[in-house]
Amino acid sequence: MKAYRAAILRFAPDNDPHACAVYEDDGLLVVGPNAQGRQVVQAVGPYQEVRQRFPGVAVTHWPGRIIAPGFVDLHSHYPQTNVIGSPAEGLLPWLENYTFPEEKRFLDLEYSAQSASFFIAELLRNGVTTALTFATSHPTSVNALFQAAQQNRLRLITGLCLMDRHAPADLLNQPAHDGSTDATEQSLLDSEALITRWHGVDRLGYAITPRFAPTSTDAQLRGAGELAAKYPDVWIQSHVAENKAEIAWARALFPASRSYLATYADFGLLRQRAIYAHCIHFDDEDRALMRDTGSAAAVSPTSNLFLGSGFFDYAGADRVGFQYGLASDVGGGTSFSPFHTMLAAYYVGREGQTKAGLSLSPQHLWWQHTAGAARALGLDGVVGNLQPGCEADFVVLNPQATPLLARKTALADSLDELLFSMVVLGDDRLIERTVISQSSQA
Ligand SMILES: [Zn+2]
Repeated sequence: MKAYRAAILRFAPDNDPHACAVYEDDGLLVVGPNAQGRQVVQAVGPYQEVRQRFPGVAVTHWPGRIIAPGFVDLHSHYPQTNVIGSPAEGLLPWLENYTFPEEKRFLDLEYSAQSASFFIAELLRNGVTTALTFATSHPTSVNALFQAAQQNRLRLITGLCLMDRHAPADLLNQPAHDGSTDATEQSLLDSEALITRWHGVDRLGYAITPRFAPTSTDAQLRGAGELAAKYPDVWIQSHVAENKAEIAWARALFPASRSYLATYADFGLLRQRAIYAHCIHFDDEDRALMRDTGSAAAVSPTSNLFLGSGFFDYAGADRVGFQYGLASDVGGGTSFSPFHTMLAAYYVGREGQTKAGLSLSPQHLWWQHTAGAARALGLDGVVGNLQPGCEADFVVLNPQATPLLARKTALADSLDELLFSMVVLGDDRLIERTVISQSSQA
């Protein structure tokens, strides 16, 4: 067992989105192996109280630092790391001019491997300890990322991008070399083989990954839905209702479905553990469909602002009551930093604001990128929090990391003021250390 003394931020165990965060000025976090040998939180609370229960455990003391749950990023594209910050008029030209040419390079295992290593290092540097991310349509890209994540003991979920039409030919799924299968059939066989190889191994998880409805045939979406039914604890990830041109295209291709979102339901792709990026242009029937199926939105505010896609409707989501959490959406998103994402979410929350006051409270912003995102993934009580039993993934924040942060955080009179200072002024410099189970990155 090990113990860490510092200020500690966590969330109430009932994980209510609007519940208060729990904060100790002088706390103690005790971690040790659970029955499966995984390092989890054994106890947490005020230093004096917890110390008495664990008198023999060696304590690492980080004065002036804050221990907080590792961040959970609900949506990104690891093959788009190099695409970050590319200028484009909107989603569809951005895909064509930047994203598709870069993604073609992931046919190569060496290229995939070095990109995967860089991506994971960047997540850890920014305090992200659980990530759901896209790979490309090449199985090499999936294997390379799982291997890199396994080496770093990261909790990582990814999957083969399913795309059998409406993209450049060398980015589509490919038939078997011997011609025994067509591209659609092979993409589903490859997905199932990757599930068998990787899902549930160490801390890795598989996600069935149709890029978005317009780039899959009916047969591919149907096959993906069948896989989702056969493997209920496998995740599903895709995109929906990001941009008006995309919606018009999806509606034209699937006219029988009630809405773009309903297309996914019609193919069996809405259920618990299904995470849909964006979810911007919804009506209340779509929101109810998200709620009733237990699907969740990956809110990607830096990406939505960058590509001019629109604003996630927080008030609508809360009124109908479906789940959501925050995501970087790198490379449409502009930053790996959860602080930048939380600040962008605050701006987005301002847009649809009907009541006076703050748009989203600092605690609620932080929750969306930790315990709330974990809940959306069905990993409530496993990651994203520091309650007893949670896996011991955490960050050590240095509120003195920059002169302005030091000056501003010293003035904080309340937890909201402290957290908001870090949301507004924070970036990777605030993350002094990311701790994953027993491996530690200074
Ligand atoms: Zn995306």
